[in-house]
Amino acid sequence: MKRALKWVAGVVGLLLVLAGAFWFYAFGSNSPIVEGPVVPGVETVKDGFVNIFILDAGPGKVALVDAGNDKSGKSLLAALARRNLAPASVAAIFLTHGHPDHTAGCRLFPGAEVYAMEADVALAGESAKVTHPLKDGEITTLGDLRVEAFSVPGHTPGSAVYLARGVLFFGDSAGASKDGEIMKAVGLFSKNSGENVASLKALTARLEPRAKEVQAMAFGHTGTVAGFAPLATFASHH
Ligand SMILES: [Zn+2]
Ligand SMILES: [Zn+2]
Repeated sequence: MKRALKWVAGVVGLLLVLAGAFWFYAFGSNSPIVEGPVVPGVETVKDGFVNIFILDAGPGKVALVDAGNDKSGKSLLAALARRNLAPASVAAIFLTHGHPDHTAGCRLFPGAEVYAMEADVALAGESAKVTHPLKDGEITTLGDLRVEAFSVPGHTPGSAVYLARGVLFFGDSAGASKDGEIMKAVGLFSKNSGENVASLKALTARLEPRAKEVQAMAFGHTGTVAGFAPLATFASHH
């Protein structure tokens, strides 16, 4: 009996060490998520370990980039309420990709149009109900909000980066480290790591002539970074 208990304790201990190592691998070097404004008209909402962004979209209307991991939308609904906005004020949701930690909140906004790259519509599935499959380069206008979609396959086949209000939104296709450097998608959670890096390099080349438009870069699970330069540095090192 004693021997069995020792075995159990050993296995539990090993699992805890593995869980710790895994946590560090996935999140250990991330810059922390900071709630609040990114640039005028863009606000970060922290939903546990994942970000949601609220974008102004004309009087009394907003759009979201991703809808979070919390089906009950506690932090998101609270952030909307602080602006005196009801769920019906959410006109659109732009999904960076179809993983459930970014789509769970969609069900709270049945009136919102839901956008995602066409290659991730199936992955987003019933919980997100994409109404507008997007193509690379497609531009969506809502009130005074202009959202440009770029296809960056790798983390998922239909991963998108959005450019809106001077912010590039990467979802899980990249992250920011504590040192303010850009990190590629976490390999273990990604469909194709090589493709992810190739997509980030191609996007950098594509946006380099427009670098001045990018005031900040925002990510699915980390804090934001200012400007376009960190992406150019990443691309030149990979
Ligand atoms: Zn993901
Ligand atoms: Zn994620």
